[in-house]
This record gives sequence, C-alpha cells and structure tokens, in this order.
Amino acid sequence: MAQIIFLGTAGSAAVASKNIRSSGGIILRIDDAFQFHLDPGPGALPKAHEYGINPHNTTAVLVSHNHINHCNDLNLVIEAMTHSGLERRGVILGSKSTLQPGENSHPFITRYHHNLVERVIPMEKNHKVALESVEIHALPVEHTDQTAIGFKLFCPGFVVSYPGDTSLTPQLTESLVGTDVLILNVPYPGKRAQGSNLDSDTAIKLINQIKPRLAVITHFGLEMLKADPMHEARLIQQATGVQTIAASDGLTISPTGYGNYHSPVKGF
Ligand SMILES: [Zn+2]
Repeated sequence: MAQIIFLGTAGSAAVASKNIRSSGGIILRIDDAFQFHLDPGPGALPKAHEYGINPHNTTAVLVSHNHINHCNDLNLVIEAMTHSGLERRGVILGSKSTLQPGENSHPFITRYHHNLVERVIPMEKNHKVALESVEIHALPVEHTDQTAIGFKLFCPGFVVSYPGDTSLTPQLTESLVGTDVLILNVPYPGKRAQGSNLDSDTAIKLINQIKPRLAVITHFGLEMLKADPMHEARLIQQATGVQTIAASDGLTISPTGYGNYHSPVKGF
C-alpha cells in the first residue's frame, strides 16, 4: 500500500510565519519498505509526529532546492533518521545547491550530517537514480535557484511527479509525460504568478498537456489562500477534465488506484 501525506501546504514565508498553513514537506510511503520525505521545510518533525509518521523510518530525503521553506529541516530529519548518528543509514538526494558547496554559497547539509547517512547524491536536471524498486528522475525545472530540480518517481504501480517550485517550460512539460499523480506547487491564483512559480492558469496549461489521473495543488501563498485553493482546484478541474484536489495540512492520498505503471525496472 502506498500513501502520500502532506505535512504542510504553505507556499511562502508569509503564510508559514503567520502560521496560517504549516510547512514540513511531503511524505511518500510505499508498503512498509520505503518512506521518502520530500522538501523538509520548517516544522518537518513535529508535523510528521502529528500525522502519525515516524521520522526514524525515513529511507530517503529528497530536496528540490535551497529555499528555506524547502530544506530548512534537512539536518534535523537526518538526526531523526539516524538516531543522531547511532545508525548510519538513509539516502539524501537533492539539488547541488543543497548538497554541494557553490562559488558563492555553502551547502545546506552540514558536513557532520553528511557523514551520518549512507549516501548523499547531488542530482542535476535529467539525472536518473534507482533506489530499490523506485526510479527517480530529476525534473528540469526553472527557478531562481539555478540548480533546482523536481522529482519524477516511478513507483511500483504508479508514477508520481513533484516538480517543486518552477515556471512552466516546454522541457518540464515533456519530462512530466506519463505521470499518474501530479503534485504542483501553485502559490498564486488566476494569472498572478510572480517570478519563477506557477499560478492556476499555468497549472491548467500544464495539466492539460500531461493529463495525469490526479492533480494535487499545494504550496499556497497569501493571494491563493484568499482566492481559496478549493475554488481554484475546481476551476482547474473544469478546465482540464482532470480530477484536481487542493491539498490541506495532513491530507493523505492513496496513489495506487491512479496508476497504470507496472514496470519499475525497465523502460527508461
Ligand atoms: Zn523556491
């Protein structure tokens, strides 16, 4: 059985700091074998506990880019995953900006925490990695963090994609083809996107081209919350014909019913 649990749905520092919505990332659980933690933002551990997730069972942490609401609690999650280093375990996958020193930046993972885990894998756009029965493709996203990536996860029975923060590009659209469950960060309603982010209008364009079985919008900014994410999700569903849900903190979905993908090993 697989589950996707939203630990938080805040899409801006303003929303998170006013505590209107939480952050903390997204959990993907596959049977009892894997537990992936995507984008562990602030509050990842308390939110995990609140929603019945044991952070020690985390097998991999996936970080899309180095903005604080996506990676702030990476080192804390590593502490929990390894019992503060008592067990050397787990894999960290992420953008170069979070895991490697850059010309003008230092990585978000500390050297100490780097040494607590089994493997640390900085990924570039379009790179592929296999973790047991899950194939992971780094999506070519376009964001203010130039090294930002998204994740397309080929799981047994379904494909789930999480581009993270990005604008809409033909390369991204192409890389998302074949997605069953599409999780989109949509901080803005209507046509009001600022910078390299999505709004409802670009989400419609993207979903129309991909036609996933299920679309979930999350990562809401203040304007989006004012417009009401449920209302925006309804508009997206009407425009695309694709079932669309607005995530709420603690939302759990079962992706298995949405997939038609049965070959996790071949076909890449
Ligand atoms: Zn960002």
